[in-house]
Amino acid sequence: MTREPLALYVHWPFCVSKCPYCDFNSHVRAEIDQDSWRDALLADLAHEARLLPGRQLTSIFFGGGTPSLMDPATVEVVIGAALSHWPTAGSVEITLEANPNSVEAARFADLAAAGVNRLSLGLQSFDDKALAFLGRAHSAGEGWRALEIAERNFRRVSFDLIYALPGDTEDSWSATLAQALSLGTSHLSLYQLTIEPGTRFATMVQKQQFAPLDDDLAAALFELTDDMATAAGMPAYEISNHARQGQESRHNLTYWRYGDYAGIGPGAHGRRLGMRTMRHRKPENFLAAVTRNGHGIAEGEPLSAVEAADEALVMGLRLREGIDVQAIAERFGVPMLVDSERVSALVKSGHLEQNGTRIALTRDGRLLLDHILGEIAATDVRALAVA
Ligand code: SF4
Repeated sequence: MTREPLALYVHWPFCVSKCPYCDFNSHVRAEIDQDSWRDALLADLAHEARLLPGRQLTSIFFGGGTPSLMDPATVEVVIGAALSHWPTAGSVEITLEANPNSVEAARFADLAAAGVNRLSLGLQSFDDKALAFLGRAHSAGEGWRALEIAERNFRRVSFDLIYALPGDTEDSWSATLAQALSLGTSHLSLYQLTIEPGTRFATMVQKQQFAPLDDDLAAALFELTDDMATAAGMPAYEISNHARQGQESRHNLTYWRYGDYAGIGPGAHGRRLGMRTMRHRKPENFLAAVTRNGHGIAEGEPLSAVEAADEALVMGLRLREGIDVQAIAERFGVPMLVDSERVSALVKSGHLEQNGTRIALTRDGRLLLDHILGEIAATDVRALAVA
């Protein structure tokens, strides 16, 4: 019997400080009662397990916030509970996001012993001045040491860098990227700095305390990134994610391929059984909800076939492999997913590639993802999805 696969996302909402560019659900608290958090996460997990019996667990992802601040014993019991709730086939990819300061790096061996087999390290830069601008709580030296410790302890290590900072040039970014590509990790997440509404950076930009990098230069850096990473054997498999063949994040591929995932912990999103779920964002509200209801769900909303098809299109086009428009239309019983005339026009202009019923963005197209999504969605699908 083939069991339907399932990914599990666990959100740890705490950080030592708030980075000025961050719009994630992260909170700074003087004290964290690890026992209460362990119990709440286990209860929230058990709730999802009751709703999803017999699914095959393929991956677990501890994101945040800063999950490397979790007590490794809590990580271990959450992993153990997930593995006891759901059967698996072969190995389960278990990723944890970590910040590279020395306190957290000292826990890497314990986190590996707890069952984590893939570490995603938020290095963000190799330059102390850039790290200070980004408000990061670690130095470049700590980053190097954390990477070394991570590579000793985990079979798979990825790290993140943020580029297109004010003052970045093609020369400065190509030097940084060459260094990153020489380090031998099999996965890299390379994000352009974006100014998200409601962040401290958004206020600073509004007050003209700094200006984001010019769009044309940011686009040139994106192309440079693609060229250098591809030449080094780490092409992009998603807009910002690069991997050696076979080293893609299985967990994130589940999101982008529109598979089901259960999301537990404050603010976690989930998508399962045709529903979109969202947990209470504020840590205290989440704990109170778990005490009251046995789970942390704030909203659970059924997805219509049209909404689901539209989301599958939006998520899937982020991937280099693109999407099979006919397969998605059949999966959700939607007559027409994309406007074929507009797709043909974008193929002609070099923004899309088409192979039978599959379409994918070209490199030029990847720079214009949002615009292209607006262009190609069949009018009735888009109108119904936003109605
Ligand atoms: S460490 Fe990560 S999650 Fe925490 S504030 Fe900084 S960017 Fe946000």
